[in-house]
Amino acid sequence: MKTTLNFILSLQLIFVLSLVPFISPAQQHATDGEVTGIIEKESPDLLKLYQHLHANPELSFQEKETAKLMAGELRKAGFEVSENIGGYGVVGLLRNGEGPTVMIRTDMDALPIKEDTGLPYASQVTATDASGKVVPVMHACGHDLHMTTWVGVARVFSQMRSNWKGTLVFIAQPAEEKLTGARAMIADGLFTKFPRPDYGLALHVNPALEVGKVGYKSGYALANSESLTITVKGKGGHGATPHTSIDPIVMASKIVLGLQTIVSRELSPLESPSVISVGSIHGGTTGNIIPNEVEMKLTVRSFSDESREAIIGKIGRICRGVALAAGLEEKDYPVIESTTLYTPAQVRELTKNKPSGATADNYNPSVYNDPVLTGKVATAFRATFGEGNVVELPPEMFGEDFSNYTRVSPRIPTLIYSLGTSAPFTDNVRSYHPTHSSKFSPVIGLGLTTGIRSMSAAIFSLLNSSPD
Ligand SMILES: [Zn+2]
Ligand SMILES: [Zn+2]
Repeated sequence: MKTTLNFILSLQLIFVLSLVPFISPAQQHATDGEVTGIIEKESPDLLKLYQHLHANPELSFQEKETAKLMAGELRKAGFEVSENIGGYGVVGLLRNGEGPTVMIRTDMDALPIKEDTGLPYASQVTATDASGKVVPVMHACGHDLHMTTWVGVARVFSQMRSNWKGTLVFIAQPAEEKLTGARAMIADGLFTKFPRPDYGLALHVNPALEVGKVGYKSGYALANSESLTITVKGKGGHGATPHTSIDPIVMASKIVLGLQTIVSRELSPLESPSVISVGSIHGGTTGNIIPNEVEMKLTVRSFSDESREAIIGKIGRICRGVALAAGLEEKDYPVIESTTLYTPAQVRELTKNKPSGATADNYNPSVYNDPVLTGKVATAFRATFGEGNVVELPPEMFGEDFSNYTRVSPRIPTLIYSLGTSAPFTDNVRSYHPTHSSKFSPVIGLGLTTGIRSMSAAIFSLLNSSPD
């Protein structure tokens, strides 16, 4: 009898749930009120956590203590936690009945920068980098604020279990600055050993936005990022008798100029926003010797896979053309190598404690924010913060390895959005220190609150709807 009653009750529950596929603005408002109450209560502790993380940054591939702390925070909030996934990666699960699975990612690593903010909790930390050099370390990309927000959101959903159904997968990712950690976690079974998400979410600080605001870009938001090395071979000789040699410096110079015409003359400025920058060129030892070769390093940025492939092809064509014109034999044509990331052996070495997490690729793919998901979340943001605090942003040419979580088969719809961190701009003067600056210093109080409220609103908007 009791079983039958339970069965009828659960049928009724399913019926009621199926009637409310989307969270209404009124519900959103009530939920946000509860979220704000929890943030108020947790704020003193979260601010302490933020200052601790800021004062104790760790370089990419060295996030041991940070990862331990993140795992401990999730455990305290009632998550099932796994550690050392793809290096120091952490995965936490909060299962709360039938419903969508939503993944929320934070990154953990800091940068080799000497902090110059003058903050009382400024980092004094130094560490030995992968090449054996002792370097200063600073959270100059806001990953400390990402982690504190993430812990805050974990506490919110743990304390509001009666308001949602589904599974939350919280991941703390290592080595974002090296564009490697996401891939390492995926290779180590993120989507096979743990529930596969219906959606993936992340935020990133954005000092170009005022604190209290959030921003988003639907579709392509951040670029394909690839580094190339071009080795231009010639035939060395005496600087006084150039006619007896084939000068790789002249060839390299022609290649540099030729590359400028790819973006400006060969690609549509409307359809294929792209960048090709030659950032390093080395060859020769002194003025009267024509060297045997010149090495150039480039960064190439684009959005679609098609434009990326087209650009690489055109770079090859220009290099071959210059070599042909110089009279080189085909076997000596310039060698183009893609060198963005690491070889599998290097990744294994760098993620020592978990060799199975090793993986490598030669470029980092562009970030594509799923338009349907972005639309849903933007609606939730507007209901939470009001129209004026939600900004649609242009795409940018930076890279972010969050893109890798989408690029699995079948694709997972994901969104990474921007969290404003600058003090209000006055008289249209938009002055701020960008991320990766030694003076980068986000406004914490309101920044943290907005981070937790926005991520909570995003998650609630997905958990209360059925996955498409
Ligand atoms: Zn960064
Ligand atoms: Zn970053």
